[in-house]
Amino acid sequence: RLMPSLIEESQTDSLTQLINRPSFMELAMDVLADAEDQQSELVFAILDIDYFKRINDTYGHGCGDAALASVGSLLLAVTRPGDLVCRFGGEEFALLLATSREAGSKALERLRLQLEMNTIIYDGLRVPLAASIGAAATSQCGYNLDFLYNAADKALYAAKRGGRNRLEWYSGELMSRLSIFAEMSR
Ligand code: GH3
Ligand code: MG
Ligand code: MG
Repeated sequence: RLMPSLIEESQTDSLTQLINRPSFMELAMDVLADAEDQQSELVFAILDIDYFKRINDTYGHGCGDAALASVGSLLLAVTRPGDLVCRFGGEEFALLLATSREAGSKALERLRLQLEMNTIIYDGLRVPLAASIGAAATSQCGYNLDFLYNAADKALYAAKRGGRNRLEWYSGELMSRLSIFAEMSR
């Protein structure tokens, strides 16, 4: 009788109650394989809270934890059955959305705004939150999980470089902008 709850525990992040990275990656492989068979579109996104270290430093680690839990609840509330959401590690979350790039763009932009509006109250203080999101669509990037992850991660890097609190998509045009950044910082 203990087994199911132990298995569940090993797949869940205790702070946010979201699934953890290893179980996300395992489930994502299956979802991607099914979607490829059916030629249905998916969107892979990584969301990283902006200046999260500052939240810990300003309001304390307990507040940081509360903020992470609140982002977890928001992500669960706005996603739909068939989407995968996980705490990827630290203040990073990953999403695999059963949607096209166009609809995914609207959903992720809405999520970014909700996160910004949904400021948390900790110890009577209003704690502002914002996040950057990097996204990659199977219609552009194909169904390989590693490729999608790398593409979304590059887009996330560009969103941070571009000023944070924004959504950025992986594209060829983005890649040439990133190589210009690399040239400039050499
Ligand atoms: P950026 O906008 O570039 O993402 O800056 P950042 O401060 O969000 O990123 P950085 O990687 O510098 O800091 C992430 C911080 O997240 C540092 C780490 O202490 C904190 N963190 C990671 N996991 C947890 C956690 O479980 N609880 C709390 N309270 N903090 C955590
Ligand atoms: Mg981070
Ligand atoms: Mg961060």
